Amino acid sequence: MSARRLDGTATARAIRDEVTRGVAALKRERGATPGLTVVLVGEHVASLAYVRGKEKAASETGMRSEVLRMPRTATEAEILDAVRRLNADASVHGILVQLPLPEGIDAQRIVAAIDPDKDVDGFHPVNAGRMLLGLPSVLPCTPAGVVVLLKRHAIPLEGRRAVVLGRSNIVGKPMALLLLREQCTVTIAHSRTPDVAAVAAEADILVAAIGRPGFVRGAFIKPGAVVVDVGVHALTDRRRVRELFGENEAKLRALEASGSVLCGDVHPTEAEARASWLSPVPGGVGPMTIAMLLSNTLEAARRCSASV
Ligand code: NAP
Repeated sequence: MSARRLDGTATARAIRDEVTRGVAALKRERGATPGLTVVLVGEHVASLAYVRGKEKAASETGMRSEVLRMPRTATEAEILDAVRRLNADASVHGILVQLPLPEGIDAQRIVAAIDPDKDVDGFHPVNAGRMLLGLPSVLPCTPAGVVVLLKRHAIPLEGRRAVVLGRSNIVGKPMALLLLREQCTVTIAHSRTPDVAAVAAEADILVAAIGRPGFVRGAFIKPGAVVVDVGVHALTDRRRVRELFGENEAKLRALEASGSVLCGDVHPTEAEARASWLSPVPGGVGPMTIAMLLSNTLEAARRCSASV
């Protein structure tokens, strides 16, 4: 068997096109331009790249997009102040505080200060609670993106066994809730789960979000399962690239050229041989996360302009 590709790049492009049309319609019909502000504290290398990607993607849809940069030395009070100013700014419909925040800053406190209507990451306790209760709410981008990715590839979800590897607040837990909402029978496995491989192998739908490169081996995958790989890692070691991708000339050349190759939590070649569908890294969940952020921002602007 050779797995079919859950193509996040193409699916995200389609969603971004829909958002672009939605932004134009909102401008035309209500004179409102959706605005997204990303708050970036410090200079965490991966965060800089993520934030640039989000800013670029937002402006390509016609939204107003800006990054509020604060020094690594910013105090919690200063960050809270910035968030409150954005809450009060009518031109800002979506606020995203890029995580991780520097040590000593209470991320929960900062996120809880965001107006829940502007919380386009869906991390605010009010939105998390509403999601738990099945009420309309802003959904966290990565798990919401996984569900959209599955649906747009016409993967049946109702009644199927889903296993989520990982229980973080931003991926694993909301992922499990959203699959439950789609009528899956859901199991969450984590670092204290005995025999994770055996639990994973029960899944029709397996979502890996554990933050360990290539952790999900072939034996974790029931033949014919649908596998979604949320993990993102940069491999810099030729031996590891070979272990995960075999004698893949393109990957080895990319390693030479740029010094690293991306991989996920799933062993790509072993999964390819057992799964019916597999999301690649890169080009799977990553682009969906950004697309859902744009979609959440457009929705926030729609709600706001409808209530004026
Ligand atoms: P996280 O906060 O580190 O959580 C990892 C989870 O995996 C924890 O619940 C942990 O269990 C569990 N875990 C760790 N080792 C395990 C093991 N050996 N067996 C079973 N479970 C294990 O990570 P995260 O923020 O959820 O992110 C997970 C991955 O997704 C990372 O690679 C991250 O970079 C990636 N990510 C990608 C996107 C995207 O847009 N593509 C977005 C977000 C995250 P415990 O709770 O017991 O410690």
